[in-house]
Amino acid sequence: MEKAQTPLQDVQANIAKSCAIARREPEDVTLIAVSKMHPAEAIEPLLREGQRHFGENRVQEAQGKWPALREAHPAVQLHLIGQLQSNKAEDAVALFDAIHSLDRPSLVKALAKAMDKRDRRVPCFVQVDVGEEDQKGGCPVAELPALLEQARDADIPVAGLMCIPPFEIEAAPFFAFLDKLARDHGLDGRSMGMSGDYETAVRLGATHVRVGTALFGARPVLK
Ligand SMILES: *Cc1c(COP(=O)(O)O)cnc(C)c1O
Repeated sequence: MEKAQTPLQDVQANIAKSCAIARREPEDVTLIAVSKMHPAEAIEPLLREGQRHFGENRVQEAQGKWPALREAHPAVQLHLIGQLQSNKAEDAVALFDAIHSLDRPSLVKALAKAMDKRDRRVPCFVQVDVGEEDQKGGCPVAELPALLEQARDADIPVAGLMCIPPFEIEAAPFFAFLDKLARDHGLDGRSMGMSGDYETAVRLGATHVRVGTALFGARPVLK
């Protein structure tokens, strides 16, 4: 029995296994280490192990943590995975290398304006509300074609689609659905899969998995 030594190696090995089952290449799957709520001291060991893609869900928290970490590790790629308020669009465009939560026309407008102003085009994933749950955000499936068109008209680079399926029920049908939607719209990127279901997501075509707990342990509780 080979035994992975660190959580990162463990997750990487699981991704490789899922890729083998799906006849995919591990290089085609980007592991995003979701470091939200974890302090710099928890992130540094992963950086030392060579992890380069990190995800945060709040602009303000990322602004506090990442500038210093990035100075030491300039190759870091930061992904915004949480809901984005339009009034934070410019800060998000300045800090992040990809945004996974584009989900409404007003945000298309705000991001386009911010990208023009900063002269920086940040690839975006359109978040789709696959489980029809309001609280997680995401564009209703019926409104996806119009939103994609608006994004393209605004010169926003659309990298693909993203989803957060409902918790505590089988995620596979939602992943398969997102994969089909992406294919129908000619998009390469599929941002799907978290600690509990990233292997399933990889088997079903994920190009970006967002894994927090399996890499960092449980998130600190806010007091
Ligand atoms: C927190 C979060 C994750 C990571 O969740 P884990 O279960 O800790 O892996 C992934 N995606 C989004 C959008 C998140 O907010």
